[in-house]
Amino acid sequence: MELETVIGLEVHAQLLTQSKMFCGCSADYAGAPPNTHVCPVCLGLPGSLPVINRRAVEMTVMTGLALGCRIPPYSKFDRKNYMYPDLPKGYQISQYDLPLCVDGMLEFLVNGQRRRVRIRRVHLEEDTARLIHRTIGGESYSLIDMNRSGVPLIEIVTEPDLRSPEEARLFLMALRQVLRYLGVSTGNMEEGAFRCDANISQRTRDGQRQWPKSEIKNLNSFRSVERALTYEEARQRAAIGRGEQLVQETRGWLEEREITVTQRAKEYPDDYRYFPEPDLPPIFWTEDDLARIRAAMPELPLPRWERFQADYGLGPQEAALLTEERAIADYFEACVAGDRTQAREIANWITGELFALLRERGRSISEVGVQPRQLRQLIDLVRRGTISTLTAKELLVAVSETGIDPEVLVAERGLAQVSDEAQLREVVERVLTENPKAVADYRKGKTAAIGFLLGQVNRALGGRANPAVARRILEEALRQPVE
Ligand code: ADP
Ligand code: ZN
Ligand code: MG
Repeated sequence: MELETVIGLEVHAQLLTQSKMFCGCSADYAGAPPNTHVCPVCLGLPGSLPVINRRAVEMTVMTGLALGCRIPPYSKFDRKNYMYPDLPKGYQISQYDLPLCVDGMLEFLVNGQRRRVRIRRVHLEEDTARLIHRTIGGESYSLIDMNRSGVPLIEIVTEPDLRSPEEARLFLMALRQVLRYLGVSTGNMEEGAFRCDANISQRTRDGQRQWPKSEIKNLNSFRSVERALTYEEARQRAAIGRGEQLVQETRGWLEEREITVTQRAKEYPDDYRYFPEPDLPPIFWTEDDLARIRAAMPELPLPRWERFQADYGLGPQEAALLTEERAIADYFEACVAGDRTQAREIANWITGELFALLRERGRSISEVGVQPRQLRQLIDLVRRGTISTLTAKELLVAVSETGIDPEVLVAERGLAQVSDEAQLREVVERVLTENPKAVADYRKGKTAAIGFLLGQVNRALGGRANPAVARRILEEALRQPVE
């Protein structure tokens, strides 16, 4: 009996709005003291009234459009009722039967092959408060920080189209990349701004038999998503192999022990007593609204990756490195500045020297202090033979530290290579007179001696000899008959 793994994901992402979903409190609560970003609305006090954050709605629709979703002309909010300390109102404002976006798909790469995963829906809701579990004086307490309560949250639900834990991880990374390109979320998983519940089940390859799915929670990194799914896949298959029953349930991933454990039986929509939110008006879209949002969308990662290969002659790997983040892709194109002849050289410099500098300094491309114009200038200086590649690498660091243009640094520090033939000939002649033994060796056929002589010429010029010109002149001089 050949089994196939079926995986579908439910992803939550916090939106990068200034204010919360239904009140004016700042949504940027990172690092703030607990319970300081609060008001009657996000504390859920009776009698307070929510107001829809228009920006959050637009960001959700932009996400839907980027995922190829249909945006139904009419949408509304619903109350999802449940009791938990992180939800003092007793209900979460969410969307049930009329989400903002439906029927999309995300295309991404798995080992260089294109894969498509259908997106069932994207809806908008409010985040809950955060519970902090502490032991104080030997007693365990659960503390509540309401700063997160009411932060706009989108939920993206896939169809069960994924077939392996690795594919699930790659899908998630591609999805986060899209959200970051759009600027709608930081996508930071460790900080909880991007969270994922993973559903997994087994079926026979012919689809004749299928087993109940588990939903895995508490996945805090891309790595834990893949590891938890790998564990659960093996657990389900082993149980099926032993002829055991599987039950539909929610399981938690225990990071330290690398296992999943039963949390609770699956809950169903009826349990939540969904009903339309009476304090909020429904949302209607016109074609004009949607056209305006579409017009504000940037080029997306996959098309940009393709275009970088087609327009600039880059390989797939190099194009992937340069389109990983929108800021880097923008930087690259600003360096190219319409002149494609240097595109490959620029790509090499960015993925080589510049990335190394970023890693070393722990900085992002916008913080590195080298303007695209300055990197381009550096590359042009090498191409024209004014400076050596080695000097250019040192200059890159100097530009990042001082912000001064490479051309200015070359002039100020006297870094230009000596390519002047008359000057080089003079130095070569002096070196030959001072090193009669090496000259004799060379003329006896020990051609390796030229390396030593070239080194002497370079040393006499403080390491700035243009290597190609110096070698040519040295060879010419050595061919001359002895005077
Ligand atoms: P439920 O009714 O249990 O909430 P849904 O159909 O609403 O299930 O789907 C919730 C999530 O579970 C979706 O991401 C979906 O892709 C995934 N899912 C649905 N069926 C399966 C399955 N048989 N195996 C794995 N994942 C599934
Ligand atoms: Zn508030
Ligand atoms: Mg469901």
